[in-house]
Amino acid sequence: MRIIDNLDEMTETARGWLSGGSVGFVPTRGHLHAGHLALIQAARQECEISVVGIFLAAATPGSGEDPAVYPQYLVQDLQLLTSANVDVVFLPRAGDMYPPDFSTYLALTGPLSERLEGVSRPDYLRQIGSGIVKLFQLVRPDIAYFGQKDAQQVAIIHRIVRDLNIDISLRVLPTVRENDGLAMASSNAALSPAERQAAAVIHRALLAGKALVENGERRPASIEKAMADLVAGEAAIKLDYAALCRPDTFAEVDTVTPGTLLVIAAYAGKTRLVDNVLWTSDGRWLQ
Ligand code: AMP
Repeated sequence: MRIIDNLDEMTETARGWLSGGSVGFVPTRGHLHAGHLALIQAARQECEISVVGIFLAAATPGSGEDPAVYPQYLVQDLQLLTSANVDVVFLPRAGDMYPPDFSTYLALTGPLSERLEGVSRPDYLRQIGSGIVKLFQLVRPDIAYFGQKDAQQVAIIHRIVRDLNIDISLRVLPTVRENDGLAMASSNAALSPAERQAAAVIHRALLAGKALVENGERRPASIEKAMADLVAGEAAIKLDYAALCRPDTFAEVDTVTPGTLLVIAAYAGKTRLVDNVLWTSDGRWLQ
């Protein structure tokens, strides 16, 4: 496994990809878990060369923020990636990616960047958009892999790739969960035992929303209220939003039809939890 932390070396290596076969890229922020590993396995199966990125795409330029959000887990992450037979780990430094005079951002517009996560974390979405394009430029993958858990991020990246004619295919894999349904996330490690137990309410609330739809409920507001009420039953969890929207535009829906995303964001203490279930346009459920 080759570790590349230098941008010129990454560019030079990517120039040589063409002769080596297709390249699968899995961008992460590190502190890897089974959700990341599922993306990595898919990349390994589908492509000749697998590249895993460990970098906070939404790092704030000039802040000197550490490139790996979880530096304390780096040794463990690199061991995991070695066992997973990954070919290249790209570990850029924040100061190289975002020099002090960095000044170019993508301007995202519309509900996709203005609703839900766009209200709670507008800078994060803007930085993710610009950061992911930089990573794509450096790694030049054929296919990039993302998790359905971060549905709004996935929708934004689809839109950027389409709008800017970036020649990369995107694969979106289902959310990997703990036994009680909680979506795996690096940040779950910060939950206290009581918060960890309470956090399972998020997936339960999404499944309750799904059950209402299956029973014929078509009014988004009543499903949103039912989900919010369930989350409110757990004192350790503070709801940010429970919403129904289109999975590609994040626009509100008037009535529930196939092709509707049920999404919840909440806090357990300072830890943000996001999750969703999707009623696909062909009538299946991704949960
Ligand atoms: P992160 O390191 O949290 O930024 O996540 C890196 C990638 O892994 C993103 O595409 C996430 O959507 C994906 N991911 C994170 N958690 C999960 C999970 N529980 N199941 C599937 N994919 C995930």
